[in-house]
Amino acid sequence: MIRKDIIDRFRVPAGAKIRIKDHNPGWSQTEEMEELGKDALKERARQTLDQNLADLSHAQEMLYADDRFAVLIVLQAMDAAGKDGTIKHVMSGVNPQGCQVFSFKKPSAEELDHTFLWRYMKCLPERGRIGIFNRSYYEDVLVVKVHPELLTAQHLSPVKFGSKFWSQRYKDINAFERHLVRNGTVVLKFFLNVSKEEQKRRFLERLDRPEKHWKFSTSDLAERGHWDQYMRAYSECLSATSTKWAPWYVVPADHKWITRAIVADVVTTTIQSLDLKYPEVTEEKKEQLAEARRQLTAE
Ligand code: AMP
Ligand code: MG
Repeated sequence: MIRKDIIDRFRVPAGAKIRIKDHNPGWSQTEEMEELGKDALKERARQTLDQNLADLSHAQEMLYADDRFAVLIVLQAMDAAGKDGTIKHVMSGVNPQGCQVFSFKKPSAEELDHTFLWRYMKCLPERGRIGIFNRSYYEDVLVVKVHPELLTAQHLSPVKFGSKFWSQRYKDINAFERHLVRNGTVVLKFFLNVSKEEQKRRFLERLDRPEKHWKFSTSDLAERGHWDQYMRAYSECLSATSTKWAPWYVVPADHKWITRAIVADVVTTTIQSLDLKYPEVTEEKKEQLAEARRQLTAE
């Protein structure tokens, strides 16, 4: 498990005004980490991830048996920040029956004819399950804010798309998440914070390796061109929507081992903190079990 004070560094305090550029996307977050050095830290992160994956597997079984809570994990990031890899690694030890992943692309015509939360609501995890959103309703205050022309397709006129429009969307999101949490869904949100330099390196790697070509789209480069606008949109969004009930974590993403260890740790320790129990067996049920045993042994 990662020390609580280190994890606390990545959580955006409710109501805090943050700037993404003040968060280090690299490995050296504290003096202690700096002294330890990259290699030793990498080894430690690997061990932590292994331990967390074992614990997560058990925690998820308990979540399923307890059947009172659901967990929603929201992953947001620039392209090539490692969302897919994080999902693959962090969920590798989890029973597939207890986990659902949804990836959200550009909305369809039908989806655009509903309010912006509709398509995400349909994919929320049921009690006992972990649901992962690979991109989410946050795209509607990120990519859509960077490209306000996308709003035309949402047929919202005569609404004015000024700052009030966006602060209302943040409020809608906070209220939506508040509703989820009040009704037993734990909401965890991760922004994988990759640097512009590391994204370039990963894009070039995709271009160098034919088996990675499918992952590259020319629109990725166009979005990279809007980097500063995205960082501004993320800073504003995380400042407005990190709440006590649904906090954001800004996770360093220039090194995949660090990203995975942190996400696995937060997910595992959060589920463990839920005080999950196996459902109580009633006296009547106990009698039925005893009767079943009698019948089987008498065969
Ligand atoms: P990827 O996840 O890299 O396959 O790309 C999915 C694309 O869909 C990204 O460019 C997202 O910005 C875009 N996208 C996801 N949700 C929305 C949305 N609500 N409105 C517009 N574009 C979106
Ligand atoms: Mg992409």
